[in-house]
Amino acid sequence: MQEVLLCKCGEIVLKGLNRKTFENRLVANLRRRVRRVADCPVSLRQSVLFVEIPDGADADAVLEEVRRVFGLASICRASVCEKSLNAILKTAEYYLEEEIASAHSFKVETKRADKKFPLTSIGVSQHIGGELHQRHPHLKPEMHHPELTIHVEIREQYAFVHAGPAPGAGGMPVGANGRAALLLSGGIDSPVAGYMMAKRGLELVGIHFFSYPYTSERAREKVLALAGILTRYVGRMPVLVVPFTKIQEAIRDNCREELFTIIMRRFMMRLSDRLAASYGCGGLITGESLGQVASQTMPAMAVTGEVCKLPVFRPLIGMDKEEIVKIARKIDTFETSILPYEDCCTVFTPKHPNIRPNLERVLEAESYLPVDELVEDALAGVEQIISG
Ligand code: ATP
Ligand code: MG
Repeated sequence: MQEVLLCKCGEIVLKGLNRKTFENRLVANLRRRVRRVADCPVSLRQSVLFVEIPDGADADAVLEEVRRVFGLASICRASVCEKSLNAILKTAEYYLEEEIASAHSFKVETKRADKKFPLTSIGVSQHIGGELHQRHPHLKPEMHHPELTIHVEIREQYAFVHAGPAPGAGGMPVGANGRAALLLSGGIDSPVAGYMMAKRGLELVGIHFFSYPYTSERAREKVLALAGILTRYVGRMPVLVVPFTKIQEAIRDNCREELFTIIMRRFMMRLSDRLAASYGCGGLITGESLGQVASQTMPAMAVTGEVCKLPVFRPLIGMDKEEIVKIARKIDTFETSILPYEDCCTVFTPKHPNIRPNLERVLEAESYLPVDELVEDALAGVEQIISG
């Protein structure tokens, strides 16, 4: 018995002229993703994506991969059969044996993409439903709220039988809206921010600022582990590790303590803006949430955003920590994020950070630093690591 995943596209069906590009992107993403677990042919016919599961392949593992691909509204795991009533009936009985045994009420719902098929959709449902009721008398026909709905889809070449769709990951295919740089710390927030923007169709390049020896090798491993988890949703993702120690030391030695964080964050944004542009990114993504910490007030974000040419996306801006944690748990980054390794933000944290920084005063403080030299120096030491 041949199994197949019938995947229906989500929002991309609204995209009019761009539809073809979006669909091609989705097919390519799906192919690349299922290749991790099996050699499945993937094709697109009549706006439905078919992922064929070859003999001997682990269908559960394939489904697990496909469920994480953005751009799919729903996924039906179905059995393929010949387009005859007898084959459809036999397949339903065999493929949905457990469901049929445990349900008390049912209905059959038929879709006929092949309009040349001799029976109407209702005709097929009535025939299959009648036969099943006769052979399994405990199954009562119930049109409104059946425990089991047996779906029959009659398409060009074959018929498909399944027990209904499961939700897909939603969103748009990764890459369909371009590429952006994710500022990835070891915390809870930034992996969630990356996940949310990838769901809106962005391909990601990670950027991590690393302050060895103030932050340890293990802190860096943690960030790479988070990037690895993200690749299950976003696909391949390079991570750029930027040496940040000299910059932090220069700030510590030359600036007033209350401005440490804001000036450090301006360096992060400046460096990210430069790196993003050279990696073909059209925007930056951070895990900032309004008011969460001193550097995430509105005036602080105005002062840090001021150094960037690219737009800065902050998808968590209006979310509570609890809501963010809920997503972090869902995407499986939470347990890694809470491992207790220090981040460079916590290294030289001022006791009383300025929550309403004034741009003139920040600029004045920065004038005592060799900003360009520090930036060029850090860029020269960037290390690229590929995840996924
Ligand atoms: P997170 O939980 O993501 O660490 P946070 O609440 O700790 O966020 P901050 O430390 O103020 O907040 O950082 C705000 C954002 O700045 C982070 O979400 C991330 O996008 C970016 N960021 C902070 N530290 C780093 C770092 N070491 N490398 C790369 N980006 C960073
Ligand atoms: Mg952090």
